[in-house]
Amino acid sequence: MNCKNCGSTKTIKKGKVNGQQRYLCKDCCKTFIDNDNFTNMRNKKHIIAFAMDLYFEGMSVRKIERQIQYLFKIKVSPVSIYKWITKYSTLTKQYTDTLKADLGEKWHVDETVIKIKGKQKWFWEIIDEKTRFMVAEHLSKSRTIKDSKILFKDARNRCIKKPRIVYADGCFAYRKGFNLYFGDCGRYSKLIQNVGINARPHQNMIERLHGTLKDMIRARRGMDQMDKTEVMLDGWFVYYNFLRPHSSLGGKTPAEAAGIKLNLENRWESLIDLATKWKNIKSRNFN
Ligand SMILES: [Zn+2]
Repeated sequence: MNCKNCGSTKTIKKGKVNGQQRYLCKDCCKTFIDNDNFTNMRNKKHIIAFAMDLYFEGMSVRKIERQIQYLFKIKVSPVSIYKWITKYSTLTKQYTDTLKADLGEKWHVDETVIKIKGKQKWFWEIIDEKTRFMVAEHLSKSRTIKDSKILFKDARNRCIKKPRIVYADGCFAYRKGFNLYFGDCGRYSKLIQNVGINARPHQNMIERLHGTLKDMIRARRGMDQMDKTEVMLDGWFVYYNFLRPHSSLGGKTPAEAAGIKLNLENRWESLIDLATKWKNIKSRNFN
Protein backbone atom coordinates (compact mmCIF):
# COMPACT_ATOMS: atom_id res chain seq x y z
CA MET A 1 0.00 0.00 0.00
CA ASN A 2 1.55 3.29 -1.10
CA CYS A 3 1.26 6.20 1.32
CA LYS A 4 -1.54 8.55 0.35
CA ASN A 5 0.36 11.49 1.81
CA CYS A 6 3.82 11.09 0.30
CA GLY A 7 3.77 8.07 -2.01
CA SER A 8 6.24 6.05 0.10
CA THR A 9 5.98 2.25 0.09
CA LYS A 10 7.09 1.93 3.72
CA THR A 11 3.63 1.56 5.22
CA ILE A 12 2.25 -0.81 7.85
CA LYS A 13 -1.27 -1.70 8.94
CA LYS A 14 -2.45 0.22 11.97
CA GLY A 15 -5.91 -0.91 13.02
CA LYS A 16 -9.27 -0.15 11.48
CA VAL A 17 -11.57 2.88 11.47
CA ASN A 18 -15.28 2.25 10.81
CA GLY A 19 -14.38 -1.05 9.18
CA GLN A 20 -11.77 0.53 6.87
CA GLN A 21 -8.09 -0.40 7.10
CA ARG A 22 -5.83 2.29 8.52
CA TYR A 23 -2.11 2.48 7.66
CA LEU A 24 0.89 4.22 9.18
CA CYS A 25 3.63 5.57 6.92
CA LYS A 26 7.15 5.12 8.27
CA ASP A 27 8.48 7.90 6.05
CA CYS A 28 6.12 10.78 6.78
CA CYS A 29 4.81 9.35 10.09
CA LYS A 30 1.22 10.09 9.10
CA THR A 31 -1.68 7.67 9.08
CA PHE A 32 -4.17 7.26 6.29
CA ILE A 33 -7.21 5.16 5.49
CA ASP A 34 -7.47 2.83 2.54
CA ASN A 35 -10.36 4.45 0.67
CA ASP A 36 -10.92 6.65 -2.34
CA ASN A 37 -11.04 9.95 -0.43
CA PHE A 38 -8.54 12.78 -0.28
CA THR A 39 -6.57 12.69 2.98
CA ASN A 40 -8.72 13.52 6.01
CA MET A 41 -11.82 14.16 3.91
CA ARG A 42 -15.17 12.51 4.56
CA ASN A 43 -16.54 12.80 1.04
CA LYS A 44 -15.43 10.94 -2.07
CA LYS A 45 -12.84 12.49 -4.35
CA HIS A 46 -15.08 12.66 -7.37
CA ILE A 47 -17.76 14.59 -5.48
CA ILE A 48 -15.29 17.23 -4.33
CA ALA A 49 -13.80 17.44 -7.83
CA PHE A 50 -17.28 17.77 -9.31
CA ALA A 51 -18.07 20.69 -6.97
CA MET A 52 -14.80 22.44 -7.86
CA ASP A 53 -15.50 22.10 -11.56
CA LEU A 54 -19.02 23.54 -11.35
CA TYR A 55 -17.85 26.36 -9.10
CA PHE A 56 -15.24 27.59 -11.55
CA GLU A 57 -17.67 27.22 -14.43
CA GLY A 58 -19.67 29.89 -12.57
CA MET A 59 -22.30 27.91 -10.66
CA SER A 60 -23.38 29.16 -7.24
CA VAL A 61 -22.71 27.05 -4.16
CA ARG A 62 -26.46 26.61 -3.51
CA LYS A 63 -26.92 25.14 -6.96
CA ILE A 64 -23.89 22.90 -6.53
CA GLU A 65 -25.40 21.64 -3.28
CA ARG A 66 -28.60 20.72 -5.13
CA GLN A 67 -26.71 19.05 -7.99
CA ILE A 68 -24.77 16.87 -5.56
CA GLN A 69 -27.94 15.86 -3.78
CA TYR A 70 -29.67 15.07 -7.05
CA LEU A 71 -26.84 13.11 -8.68
CA PHE A 72 -25.12 11.41 -5.76
CA LYS A 73 -28.02 11.23 -3.28
CA ILE A 74 -26.02 12.77 -0.46
CA LYS A 75 -26.42 15.97 1.53
CA VAL A 76 -23.48 18.31 1.95
CA SER A 77 -23.75 21.78 3.45
CA PRO A 78 -22.75 24.94 1.59
CA VAL A 79 -20.17 25.48 4.35
CA SER A 80 -18.50 22.16 3.44
CA ILE A 81 -18.49 23.05 -0.24
CA TYR A 82 -16.85 26.40 0.57
CA LYS A 83 -14.26 24.62 2.67
CA TRP A 84 -13.37 22.27 -0.22
CA ILE A 85 -13.07 25.15 -2.67
CA THR A 86 -10.94 27.22 -0.30
CA LYS A 87 -8.70 24.37 0.76
CA TYR A 88 -8.00 22.97 -2.69
CA SER A 89 -7.76 26.33 -4.49
CA THR A 90 -5.00 27.33 -2.08
CA LEU A 91 -3.22 23.98 -2.30
CA THR A 92 -3.29 23.65 -6.09
CA LYS A 93 -2.21 27.28 -6.53
CA GLN A 94 0.80 26.74 -4.25
CA TYR A 95 1.74 23.63 -6.18
CA THR A 96 1.25 25.00 -9.68
CA ASP A 97 3.21 28.14 -8.76
CA THR A 98 6.32 25.93 -8.62
CA LEU A 99 5.93 24.83 -12.26
CA LYS A 100 7.80 26.74 -14.96
CA ALA A 101 6.10 27.61 -18.22
CA ASP A 102 7.66 27.65 -21.68
CA LEU A 103 5.99 30.69 -23.20
CA GLY A 104 5.98 32.63 -26.46
CA GLU A 105 7.60 35.94 -27.37
CA LYS A 106 4.62 38.26 -27.05
CA TRP A 107 2.83 38.93 -23.79
CA HIS A 108 -0.04 41.23 -23.00
CA VAL A 109 -0.51 42.94 -19.66
CA ASP A 110 -3.76 44.60 -18.71
CA GLU A 111 -5.94 45.63 -15.82
CA THR A 112 -9.69 45.82 -15.41
CA VAL A 113 -12.15 46.95 -12.75
CA ILE A 114 -14.16 44.26 -11.05
CA LYS A 115 -16.81 44.77 -8.39
CA ILE A 116 -16.55 42.59 -5.34
CA LYS A 117 -19.33 42.94 -2.76
CA GLY A 118 -20.04 46.42 -4.05
CA LYS A 119 -16.42 47.54 -3.86
CA GLN A 120 -14.29 48.43 -6.84
CA LYS A 121 -11.09 46.41 -7.23
CA TRP A 122 -8.43 46.16 -9.91
CA PHE A 123 -7.69 42.82 -11.47
CA TRP A 124 -4.32 42.67 -13.27
CA GLU A 125 -3.08 39.92 -15.49
CA ILE A 126 -0.38 39.00 -17.99
CA ILE A 127 -1.29 36.65 -20.84
CA ASP A 128 1.06 34.89 -23.23
CA GLU A 129 -0.23 35.27 -26.78
CA LYS A 130 1.01 31.92 -28.09
CA THR A 131 -0.15 29.59 -25.32
CA ARG A 132 -2.88 31.76 -23.72
CA PHE A 133 -1.22 30.95 -20.42
CA MET A 134 -2.07 33.47 -17.69
CA VAL A 135 1.48 34.21 -16.57
CA ALA A 136 0.50 36.26 -13.52
CA GLU A 137 -2.55 37.76 -11.85
CA HIS A 138 -3.00 40.23 -9.04
CA LEU A 139 -5.88 41.88 -7.20
CA SER A 140 -5.56 45.34 -5.67
CA LYS A 141 -7.52 48.31 -4.34
CA SER A 142 -5.74 50.86 -6.54
CA ARG A 143 -3.32 51.06 -9.44
CA THR A 144 0.17 51.67 -8.10
CA ILE A 145 3.77 50.91 -9.02
CA LYS A 146 3.86 48.45 -6.14
CA ASP A 147 1.09 46.43 -7.78
CA SER A 148 2.87 46.36 -11.11
CA LYS A 149 6.04 45.14 -9.38
CA ILE A 150 4.15 42.25 -7.76
CA LEU A 151 2.70 41.30 -11.12
CA PHE A 152 5.98 41.34 -13.07
CA LYS A 153 7.85 39.57 -10.28
CA ASP A 154 5.39 36.66 -10.39
CA ALA A 155 5.70 36.53 -14.17
CA ARG A 156 9.50 36.48 -13.94
CA ASN A 157 9.46 33.60 -11.49
CA ARG A 158 7.16 31.55 -13.65
CA CYS A 159 8.66 31.84 -17.13
CA ILE A 160 11.54 29.78 -18.49
CA LYS A 161 12.52 32.49 -20.98
CA LYS A 162 11.67 36.16 -21.16
CA PRO A 163 9.33 37.54 -23.81
CA ARG A 164 10.49 39.81 -26.64
CA ILE A 165 7.59 42.21 -26.35
CA VAL A 166 5.13 43.05 -23.61
CA TYR A 167 2.15 45.11 -24.77
CA ALA A 168 0.42 47.38 -22.28
CA ASP A 169 -2.00 50.26 -22.14
CA GLY A 170 -0.86 53.72 -21.05
CA CYS A 171 -1.08 53.13 -17.30
CA PHE A 172 1.95 54.81 -15.69
CA ALA A 173 2.48 51.98 -13.22
CA TYR A 174 3.77 49.42 -15.74
CA ARG A 175 7.16 50.88 -16.65
CA LYS A 176 8.86 50.54 -13.27
CA GLY A 177 7.64 47.03 -12.58
CA PHE A 178 8.67 45.92 -16.06
CA ASN A 179 12.13 47.50 -15.86
CA LEU A 180 12.80 45.90 -12.50
CA TYR A 181 12.19 42.32 -13.64
CA PHE A 182 12.55 42.39 -17.44
CA GLY A 183 14.72 45.43 -18.17
CA ASP A 184 18.16 43.74 -17.89
CA CYS A 185 19.97 41.33 -20.26
CA GLY A 186 20.86 43.91 -22.91
CA ARG A 187 17.26 45.00 -23.26
CA TYR A 188 16.12 41.69 -24.70
CA SER A 189 12.54 42.45 -23.69
CA LYS A 190 10.64 45.57 -24.69
CA LEU A 191 7.59 47.18 -23.14
CA ILE A 192 5.35 48.76 -25.74
CA GLN A 193 2.73 51.05 -24.25
CA ASN A 194 -0.33 52.82 -25.45
CA VAL A 195 -0.07 52.03 -29.15
CA GLY A 196 -3.81 52.07 -29.68
CA ILE A 197 -6.28 49.29 -30.25
CA ASN A 198 -5.39 48.74 -33.91
CA ALA A 199 -1.78 48.00 -33.08
CA ARG A 200 -2.83 45.35 -30.61
CA PRO A 201 -4.33 42.62 -32.75
CA HIS A 202 -4.91 40.43 -29.76
CA GLN A 203 -6.89 42.94 -27.76
CA ASN A 204 -9.95 40.70 -27.90
CA MET A 205 -7.97 37.85 -26.34
CA ILE A 206 -7.73 40.01 -23.23
CA GLU A 207 -11.32 41.13 -23.47
CA ARG A 208 -12.47 37.53 -23.65
CA LEU A 209 -10.50 36.70 -20.52
CA HIS A 210 -11.98 39.67 -18.66
CA GLY A 211 -15.42 38.63 -19.89
CA THR A 212 -15.02 35.09 -18.52
CA LEU A 213 -13.84 36.45 -15.20
CA LYS A 214 -16.68 38.95 -14.89
CA ASP A 215 -19.28 36.35 -15.88
CA MET A 216 -18.04 34.10 -13.14
CA ILE A 217 -18.16 36.87 -10.54
CA ARG A 218 -21.58 38.08 -11.69
CA ALA A 219 -23.07 34.58 -11.65
CA ARG A 220 -22.74 34.40 -7.90
CA ARG A 221 -23.48 37.98 -6.90
CA GLY A 222 -25.19 38.32 -3.53
CA MET A 223 -25.17 34.60 -2.90
CA ASP A 224 -21.63 33.77 -2.00
CA GLN A 225 -21.24 35.83 1.14
CA MET A 226 -18.45 33.65 2.40
CA ASP A 227 -16.33 34.06 -0.68
CA LYS A 228 -12.78 34.93 -0.06
CA THR A 229 -12.08 36.70 -3.27
CA GLU A 230 -8.33 36.14 -3.44
CA VAL A 231 -8.73 32.43 -2.85
CA MET A 232 -11.44 32.25 -5.46
CA LEU A 233 -9.18 33.98 -7.96
CA ASP A 234 -6.36 31.57 -7.09
CA GLY A 235 -8.64 28.66 -7.93
CA TRP A 236 -9.82 30.32 -11.09
CA PHE A 237 -6.21 30.94 -12.16
CA VAL A 238 -5.45 27.22 -11.71
CA TYR A 239 -8.65 26.26 -13.50
CA TYR A 240 -8.01 28.61 -16.41
CA ASN A 241 -4.39 27.55 -16.95
CA PHE A 242 -4.42 23.86 -16.12
CA LEU A 243 -7.90 22.44 -16.59
CA ARG A 244 -9.86 24.43 -19.10
CA PRO A 245 -9.34 23.28 -22.70
CA HIS A 246 -8.92 26.16 -25.11
CA SER A 247 -10.56 26.07 -28.53
CA SER A 248 -7.81 28.14 -30.16
CA LEU A 249 -5.24 25.64 -28.82
CA GLY A 250 -6.97 22.68 -30.42
CA GLY A 251 -8.52 21.58 -27.15
CA LYS A 252 -5.31 21.79 -25.14
CA THR A 253 -5.07 23.68 -21.89
CA PRO A 254 -2.73 26.70 -21.76
CA ALA A 255 -0.45 24.69 -19.44
CA GLU A 256 -0.18 21.86 -21.98
CA ALA A 257 0.58 24.40 -24.68
CA ALA A 258 3.30 25.82 -22.40
CA GLY A 259 5.00 22.43 -22.11
CA ILE A 260 3.86 21.62 -18.57
CA LYS A 261 3.26 17.91 -18.60
CA LEU A 262 1.00 16.73 -15.80
CA ASN A 263 -1.18 13.72 -16.29
CA LEU A 264 -4.52 15.25 -15.37
CA GLU A 265 -6.81 12.55 -16.66
CA ASN A 266 -9.27 13.10 -13.82
CA ARG A 267 -8.90 16.88 -13.88
CA TRP A 268 -9.32 18.39 -10.38
CA GLU A 269 -9.02 14.95 -8.83
CA SER A 270 -5.62 14.30 -10.43
CA LEU A 271 -4.40 17.82 -9.74
CA ILE A 272 -5.35 17.68 -6.06
CA ASP A 273 -3.62 14.28 -5.74
CA LEU A 274 -0.43 15.69 -7.28
CA ALA A 275 -0.54 18.81 -5.11
CA THR A 276 -1.11 16.76 -1.94
CA LYS A 277 1.93 14.56 -2.64
CA TRP A 278 4.04 17.62 -3.46
CA LYS A 279 3.11 19.31 -0.19
CA ASN A 280 3.74 16.26 1.96
CA ILE A 281 7.10 15.51 0.38
CA LYS A 282 8.09 19.16 0.83
CA SER A 283 7.15 19.21 4.53
CA ARG A 284 8.88 15.86 5.09
CA ASN A 285 12.11 17.22 3.64
CA PHE A 286 11.96 20.23 5.97
CA ASN A 287 11.52 18.11 9.10
ZN1 LIG B 1 3.98 9.00 3.86
